[in-house]
Amino acid sequence: TPTVAIVGRPNVGKSTLFNRLVGKKLALVDDRPGVTRDRREGEARLGDLEFRIIDTAGLEEATEESLLGRMRAQTEAAIEDADVILFVVDARVGVLPADRPFAEMVRRSGKPVILIANKAEGGAGMAGAYDAFSLGLGEPVPLSAEHGEGMADLFEALMPLFPDPDEDGEEEDPNKPLQVAIVGRPNAGKSTLINRMVGEDRLLTGPEAGITRDSISLDWEWRGKPVKLFDTAGLRKRARVEDKLEKLSVADALRAVRFAEVVVVLLDATIPFEKQDLSIVDLVEQEGRALVIGLNKWDLVADKPGLLTELKEKAARLLPQVKGAPVVPLSGLAGNGIDPLMKAVFQVYETWNRRISTAKLNQWLQEAIDANPPPAVSGRRIKIRYMTQVKSRPPHFAIFGNQLDALPKSYTRYLVNNIREAFDLPGVPIRVSLRMGQ
Ligand code: GDP
Repeated sequence: TPTVAIVGRPNVGKSTLFNRLVGKKLALVDDRPGVTRDRREGEARLGDLEFRIIDTAGLEEATEESLLGRMRAQTEAAIEDADVILFVVDARVGVLPADRPFAEMVRRSGKPVILIANKAEGGAGMAGAYDAFSLGLGEPVPLSAEHGEGMADLFEALMPLFPDPDEDGEEEDPNKPLQVAIVGRPNAGKSTLINRMVGEDRLLTGPEAGITRDSISLDWEWRGKPVKLFDTAGLRKRARVEDKLEKLSVADALRAVRFAEVVVVLLDATIPFEKQDLSIVDLVEQEGRALVIGLNKWDLVADKPGLLTELKEKAARLLPQVKGAPVVPLSGLAGNGIDPLMKAVFQVYETWNRRISTAKLNQWLQEAIDANPPPAVSGRRIKIRYMTQVKSRPPHFAIFGNQLDALPKSYTRYLVNNIREAFDLPGVPIRVSLRMGQ
């Protein structure tokens, strides 16, 4: 885990910030002898960022004469240990000469630093925050450690300095194929569609039929973009010839869904939304994948516009958990609709990867709360403070506040539906975690 040091002259509020970031957990007092004797360390969390935090405030009670030297040594040691530094000034007082030697140490270290203008509750101390620019440590983040204001902004500033927990430091490789599973009930037309996409002979290259029922993957390219297709049907070529008694194997479907980033649930448009279809969609939701609904055998449909309207309405009603998933009519047999299908696949993939800035989220959150405030539940005042996106693939948000355990599910649903609309996130599951105490 990364280490963050809180640095600054006495009385700017370092301990208060430390306590807020460490939360209810007791701060550990490091009692090793030497320089580190007075320093406090703790496990901190902000949003989904977890880090070790070092407070250099331990000496503020010390006598004046011994103070500066020890404090300097302690600050040097903390800076040395840290990956990121939070440099704190008092926004109400502005920058004092006493801030400068500490700022100088931080600057000399060359380590990433976030300048914090503390005690800025209720918008106080903006002049002081402005003043802090003169330290040459970048743009100050105004916050109030005591009142818990501005923590979302601190999160926003810290996040890019931390390794992304999602990608484990891995860069998105443009040559990495998009992983797409095509799942659906037997006879929905999966094999026919895949054959049409990749070319007839390709399916025969899968592992020996009938021996394993693992899904197989096929490398394909759509408009120059690499795609890996996961198929639960390819192995059944022979089974079909022998005897068509297969059922939908949930284990097969689940395996394909897990491999995939985007799942195409293929329906037979002449018998759409059967129970099995809905359980496959549930699987996609549970596994957090992006969803596209393919309406296959569209060539057999007489009233095409009528049925499309009806099925889109049905999809919205039956699949609220992945609201707005694209519904694409096609015919694997005739080879129609593959382009629109793949366009939809790439589009939901983009949505699945979307990241929304904390600033935008909180602006939206305020409006959503104003329009429909959370209810008081048996006298408990629920307070939602702020929100951040902690992950993508699929979008995952954390809501921070007080008494959130009393927040009705209907309210969370209200927020999720509203996020989906406001930030245009159709066809992907949206996760929300509730966090208290920050
Ligand atoms: P799977 O079990 O999902 O792999 O389904 P298959 O690809 O084996 O197809 C089942 C049956 O539906 C076969 O008889 C196909 O010829 C037929 N079929 C598949 N796609 C279409 C289509 O787009 N239109 C029509 N009319 N029939 C199709």
